[in-house]
Amino acid sequence: MSLLEVEAINTYYGQSHILHDLSLNVEEGDLVTLVGRNGAGKTTTLKSIMGFQNPRTGTITFDGVDISDNEPHETSQAGVSIIPEHRRVFPELTVVENLQLGHMGHGLPDERVEELTGRIYDYFPRLEERKQQRAGVMSGGEQQMLAIARGLLSDPELLLVDEPTEGLMPSLVEKLREILQRINDDGITILLVEQNVELALDISDYGYVVDEGEIKAQGSGKELAQDEDIKNRYLALG
Ligand code: ATP
Repeated sequence: MSLLEVEAINTYYGQSHILHDLSLNVEEGDLVTLVGRNGAGKTTTLKSIMGFQNPRTGTITFDGVDISDNEPHETSQAGVSIIPEHRRVFPELTVVENLQLGHMGHGLPDERVEELTGRIYDYFPRLEERKQQRAGVMSGGEQQMLAIARGLLSDPELLLVDEPTEGLMPSLVEKLREILQRINDDGITILLVEQNVELALDISDYGYVVDEGEIKAQGSGKELAQDEDIKNRYLALG
């Protein structure tokens, strides 16, 4: 069953028409990737889904409900969580305080928060070790882990993750890949935006290639990864 259906959306920034009849589907339980060059429209797609930049036309359906005109907090309440680019954490707050913000306003029972927190510390033991540390003094990789952990604490069904590996050293990229797979194996559906095409296609059930605000190709991660033509045309760096 489709958990998320994006149907022919057109999204603008003022007069600039960015997404052109863009459609994609995310099946429940899958890890789906959106790949494409800088400026292709990946972040704008996530912003459209979340409601930061609502599409002007087209529809977005989550769990059978039309969320096309939602405000971000409504989408969040519906069960979607976004981990934005550039690992935004609150630098002056401690790890624990940052995590508390993740479930604030979601009205989760205490037992559920405890269960989620336990799972998060299992994914990221480092965060438990550094509970009382201010987020601002942690490394980039640790801040990224914290951003993901915070997103998970709202107990989402669907996690939107925007370029989590950006600027991370290779050993951390590898660790992040494992964690995203684990999160997905534990039942959370993921829509991942990545410039690290190989990593993204390697771990995904299904992928979409976006360029100039349009979906240019789609297929299983494996199919796309083997398609030299697509790679050269839409995914070449620079
Ligand atoms: P990147 O990896 O660089 O974030 P992307 O694929 O996520 O790339 P988007 O950020 O979605 O691309 O940008 C798509 C297009 O929209 C680009 O041409 C960009 O210049 C433009 N754009 C992005 N944000 C805005 C904005 N706030 N106002 C106007 N134009 C914008």
